[in-house]
Amino acid sequence: MRRLSENHQAGASLSDVKLSRVLLLFRPYVGQLTFILLLSLAATLAGLAAPLATKELVDQAIPQKDAGLLLLFAGLMAASPLVKGVLNVWQTHLNNKVGQSVMRDLNDRLFRNLQRQSMSFFTRSRTGEIVQRISGDVQAVQGAITGTIVTAITQLVTLIATVVILLRLDWRLALVSMVVIPALLLPARRIGALRKSLRLRVQTLRGEMSSHLSETFGVSGALLTRIYGREEAQVRKFGEMNDTVKSMELRLGLIGRWYGMAAGVSNPVATAIVYLYGGWLVIHGGLSIGSVIAFAALTGRMYEPVSGLLGVHLDLSAAMGIFQRIFEYLDLKPEVADAPNAQPLQRGGGLVAFEGVSFAYASGGAAVLKEIDLTARPGQLLALVGPSGAGKTTLAGLVGRLYDPTKGTVRIDGRDVRGVTLASLREQIGYVTQEPFLFYGTIADNLRFAKEDATLAEMESACRQAYIHDVIAGLPQGYDTKVGERGHRLSGGERQRIAIARAILKNPRILVLDEATSHLDSRSEAYVQEALDSLMAGRTTIAIAHRLSTVRAADAIAVMDRGRIVELGAHEELLERDGLYAKLYRTQFAETPAGAAE
Ligand code: ADP
Repeated sequence: MRRLSENHQAGASLSDVKLSRVLLLFRPYVGQLTFILLLSLAATLAGLAAPLATKELVDQAIPQKDAGLLLLFAGLMAASPLVKGVLNVWQTHLNNKVGQSVMRDLNDRLFRNLQRQSMSFFTRSRTGEIVQRISGDVQAVQGAITGTIVTAITQLVTLIATVVILLRLDWRLALVSMVVIPALLLPARRIGALRKSLRLRVQTLRGEMSSHLSETFGVSGALLTRIYGREEAQVRKFGEMNDTVKSMELRLGLIGRWYGMAAGVSNPVATAIVYLYGGWLVIHGGLSIGSVIAFAALTGRMYEPVSGLLGVHLDLSAAMGIFQRIFEYLDLKPEVADAPNAQPLQRGGGLVAFEGVSFAYASGGAAVLKEIDLTARPGQLLALVGPSGAGKTTLAGLVGRLYDPTKGTVRIDGRDVRGVTLASLREQIGYVTQEPFLFYGTIADNLRFAKEDATLAEMESACRQAYIHDVIAGLPQGYDTKVGERGHRLSGGERQRIAIARAILKNPRILVLDEATSHLDSRSEAYVQEALDSLMAGRTTIAIAHRLSTVRAADAIAVMDRGRIVELGAHEELLERDGLYAKLYRTQFAETPAGAAE
C-alpha cells in the first residue's frame, strides 16, 4: 500500500510543469535544435525511400523486365541508407554538442547558486551530497539531455511521416498494422512513475555514499578512523550502501528491460499481422505483392520510433527524479542576501555596534544570543571571553553577516549591515579563524585569495608584517610552493601566520579574530603574536580571546555566558570585580601565559 502511494506521488509530480522546465534549459539552443531537426527529417525521408524503391522494383521493374528501372531502384535502395547514415552522424554530433552545452549551463548555474548560499546552508548540508548533486546528478541526466529531447522529436517526425505513407498506401492495412500500439501505451505511465521514484532514491543514496566517502577519506575522518581502528566498520558501511545501490539499479534496469522486450516483440507481431491481412488481400485481389512487402518494411519503420518514444518516456521518467534534485538546488534561496535597495558601505572609522541583538540558529529554536548591546570603537580591540558555547563565535559572525540577527541590529559606522551590499561589507571585514584554511595551490595563490591582483612585492610586504616571509623565502620554491589540501605541510603556527598575511593583504577596516586554542611552542607563539600586532594595528578588532596577551591588550573585554554579556570592562577592572572573568582568568589565562587552553 505504501509503495503504491509512493508511486502515485512520483507519478503526480512527473507533471508537465516539470517537463516544461527541463525543456526551458534548451531555450538558448533553439536555432541549433531546429537545424538538427531538419537534418533528422532529411535522414528520415532518405531512409523511407528504400522500401518505396523496393515496392517499385517488385511491382514495376521486374514485371516489365526493365533493366534500367531495375538498376535505378536497386541503386536507390543502396543509396538511401547511406545518405541516412551520413546525415545521422552529423545530426548526432550536433545533438551531442547541444547536450553538452546544456549540461555545462546547468553545472554553471548550480555552482553559481551554491556560491550565493549563506553559511547556514553549508553547516546544514553534507559536502559529499553537494558534490554529488553538482557533478553526479548532472552527469546522470546527460543521457536524457543529449539523447532524449531531440530523439523524441525526430522519432515523432519519423512516426508521423511513416503513418502518412502507410495510410496513403492502403488505409485498411495501415489501421490493422497499428492494433498492437495501444497495448504498449497502457502500462507506460505507471512504469515511468516507478522508474522516477526508484531513480530518486538511488540518487539520494548516491549522495549519502558520496558524503560517506568525503568524510572517511578527508584528513580528519581518515585520522579518526585509524585511531579508533574502524577501517573494517567503514568498509562494511560502504559495502551495505553499495549493495543497496546495486540492487536498486538492477531493479531499475529490469523494469526497463521487460518493457523494452515487449516493445521489441510488438514489431514482428505487427509485421506478421500485416502479412496475414495483406496476404489475404492479395489472394482476393486488389493488392500487389510489392505493396505488402513495402508495407511490412514500413511497419518496422513505424515500430522503431514507437519503441524509441517509449524508451524516451522511460529515460525521461527516470531522469525526472534526478532533475527534481537538481532543480531543488537551483531554487535554493540564500538566507543572507543583498536587500533590493542595498547601498555600498562607505569606508568609515570602523565602529561596530550590536543593538539589542538576539539570535537563534533554527527559526523558533533556542536563542544562542540574547539582547546583546555591545560596541567596538574604531581602532580599538574588543576581546570576547567566556566559556565554550557562550556564543562568542556566533556573535563575531554577525558582523560580516554570516548570519542575520533574529532580533536587533548590527551597525557599522551607524549603518545597519542588512542595508549595505554584502560585497562592500565583506571587503571591509577580515576574518582570521582558529583553524586557518588553505586551498590546495601555491602559497601565492592562497595569498591572492584576499587580493586577486596582489603583486609579489605586496605579498612579501604582507608576509614580512606577518613574520612569515623568511619561512616562505627559505622554501625551495618560495611563494610558488604548493600547500596541501589543508596546508598540511606547514606547521600550525606557519599556517596561522599565512592566514594573518592574507588578512593584511586584504587590508580590512574591521578585523574578526578567533584565536587558536591549540598550544604553539613559545617561539611560534611569539611570532604569531607579533604578526597579530601588525594586523590589528589601526583596525577595529573583535577578538575571541584565548591568550593572556590579548585580554591584557584589549581596550574592552566582554565576558559572555549563555548568550548574554555578563561583564564588560578592562582587564584590571574585571579582575577586581572578582566575577566570572576573574574565575576564567584563573582557570584559562593565568596558568598558561604563553598560550591558552579552553
Ligand atoms: P562559543 O564560540 O562561545 O564557543 P558558539 O557561538 O560557537 O559559542 O556557540 C553558541 C551556541 O550555538 C552553542 O550552544 C552551539 O552549540 C550553538 N551552535 C553553534 N553553531 C551552530 C549551528 N550551526 N547550528 C546550530 N547551533 C549552533
